[in-house]
Amino acid sequence: MQDTNDSMISPEFSGFNFHPSVMEGLDAIGFETPTPIQQMIIPLIMEGRDVIGCAQTGTGKTAAYLLPILNRIISQPVKGVNTIVIAPTRELALQIAQQLEGFSYFMNISSLAIYGGTDGIEWEQQKKALMQGVDVVVATPGKLLSFLNMDIVPAGNLQHLVLDEADRMLDMGFVDDIMRIISYLPENRRTLLFSATMPPRIRDLCRRILHDPAEVNIAISKPAAGILQAAYLVYDKQKTALLSHLVKGRDLPSILVFASRKINVKSIARELKSAGFNVADIHSDLEQPEREKVLLKFRNRQLQILVATDVLSRGIDVENISLVINYDVPQDAEDYVHRVGRTARAEQTGIAITFVNLEEQFQFAKIEKLIDTVIRKQAPPESLGEGPEWNPRPTFSGAVRRSSGNKGRRTKK
Ligand code: AMP
Repeated sequence: MQDTNDSMISPEFSGFNFHPSVMEGLDAIGFETPTPIQQMIIPLIMEGRDVIGCAQTGTGKTAAYLLPILNRIISQPVKGVNTIVIAPTRELALQIAQQLEGFSYFMNISSLAIYGGTDGIEWEQQKKALMQGVDVVVATPGKLLSFLNMDIVPAGNLQHLVLDEADRMLDMGFVDDIMRIISYLPENRRTLLFSATMPPRIRDLCRRILHDPAEVNIAISKPAAGILQAAYLVYDKQKTALLSHLVKGRDLPSILVFASRKINVKSIARELKSAGFNVADIHSDLEQPEREKVLLKFRNRQLQILVATDVLSRGIDVENISLVINYDVPQDAEDYVHRVGRTARAEQTGIAITFVNLEEQFQFAKIEKLIDTVIRKQAPPESLGEGPEWNPRPTFSGAVRRSSGNKGRRTKK
């Protein structure tokens, strides 16, 4: 369903009648024309509608909700917290907060990011900032709830609640936290829910917390058109050598390697490092400041290769990644879309290569079905020996995965 008032869709930012300082913010951040989701969602939020945005990362969804929210904060300020944005991970929360800071540079708007993993001093600072009143709070669910439980969030005049990556939050077992958070918030707020997928439990959540929502559906569970996708059919023992082979001597400044388990992430990074590559790893064992340091180095091109768990596959915005390598096939087909979506951001081109072992072939075939694309599969280079043939069949582990539809709270990746 697409429930947008076509007459209001604007192909130009100037068509939205934003406050001049929002236009200044856009100018400073360098956005020239709105992306399709921005064209459709901005007018709906400006009208004051509740909105369901079925859109994945990479579509420009963050600005689609931040811009009209900022516009309203400037035009109709309220006392206390105006907007709460909830995101599933610290990385996404931080990234939203950074985009917010960029846009609001020319505005007298305060924001605060609160997420787990901060120390006692920061907790006190955040508490103080909240009590003094901030316009926009960006938070992970658990941390926000602990502040709400302490009754120190002045949210009585809340205008907007945004749930970003709602499907991910439900996957991570946050549904009760979200409902508890909502029990603290005033009912006459606008609620904006973004989700890459719309399974029945998201529909159910929407029914419970949104009021007469307009729905915009941009999410096609497909990687962007600019991504060249390929797969290597390999045995596990060939994967590391293949990885070195693919990155050696290439003039590629930013390479992102994904592996599902952090133990693999660590060993891949170790092996690449000992082979002389400029590499680092990022996973949930790293403290938040360390993660940020690694990400910053990667963004600044001081690191050529970053090896990561799926912590990074959603939401994290690093520009111009030329190559994404899936060292293994992600368990969720949606994770594949998110992983390869790290390359070819904002209509550029990029390459995504997946290493598929025999047991992973069935899962990979499911991914191809989901994205409605047959991905080119090739054998490893001769020097690495023969790989397996393409013959996707359910294996025992595949059957276990399929039956684990209700994952409950995810373990840390
Ligand atoms: P998002 O889907 O919100 O994570 O955004 C994906 C990327 O697109 C981010 O790097 C944004 O900075 C960028 N972006 C969002 N909107 C625009 C726009 N209108 N013009 C250019 N880049 C954009």
